[in-house]
Amino acid sequence: MKTREKLIVDGKRLDGRLPEQLRTIEMKTGVVTRANGSALMKFGNTIAIASVHGPRALFPRHLQESETCLLRCRYNMAPFSVDERKSPGPDRRSVELSKVIRLALEPTLFLEDFPRATIDVYVEILQADGSTRVAGINAASLALADAGIPMRDLVAACSVGKISGTLVVDLTADEDNNSEADLAFAMLPSKKKITLLQMDGILTKEELNKLLKLAKDSCEKVYETQKKVLKEKYKRVE
Ligand code: UDP
Repeated sequence: MKTREKLIVDGKRLDGRLPEQLRTIEMKTGVVTRANGSALMKFGNTIAIASVHGPRALFPRHLQESETCLLRCRYNMAPFSVDERKSPGPDRRSVELSKVIRLALEPTLFLEDFPRATIDVYVEILQADGSTRVAGINAASLALADAGIPMRDLVAACSVGKISGTLVVDLTADEDNNSEADLAFAMLPSKKKITLLQMDGILTKEELNKLLKLAKDSCEKVYETQKKVLKEKYKRVE
């Protein structure tokens, strides 16, 4: 059951942000040298690393799909990533998040171009302070691009919600746990296609529409940083 604390004081959030302000974003590619592609993404104190392996032949062979490539995603939260130690290994939440991350990424890939193969995406949360699934999607999308895998678009993601009666973007753990509603959102910004929309809580239709607009605007900001980081990578190659 969610409690309702005062999370907005004099128009500002407890970390000093304005309602529509994202935390500081940091992104970096090529952080795992053994992977075909990798990236790190930070929303403030939330740190996600994604590594991409493949496309590569899928074994055992009976798992192969003759017409398409299998995208496999694993979301994992490190035991030390949260205040109260998380017991290692998969749980109901990580199985769900692995699935929604896969569904958020799949529409951008040309999986039919790699029949019988697999692309494995590992999302590791090193530090969790809210919005880990969307940080994971941003990192994974960047890692897929870093691996040179053809994509229709990048996938940009963010969280939005309602705290102390105010609509906000990029929720911290404190805000998430005490929110009236929270929403995880991902899209292909150039294609204007939404690939993740998960909501918890209660909103009016007007509030939902405003939050969707805020989510799209925030994804645009994330997208700009993703593109900048990728361009810098290719500048380094020149
Ligand atoms: N959290 C935690 N322990 C857990 C799961 C979550 O402390 O076992 C915290 C963590 O900071 C996380 C936040 O609660 O970011 C919100 O979790 P939620 O399940 O809503 O997913 P997220 O917002 O991280 O995608």
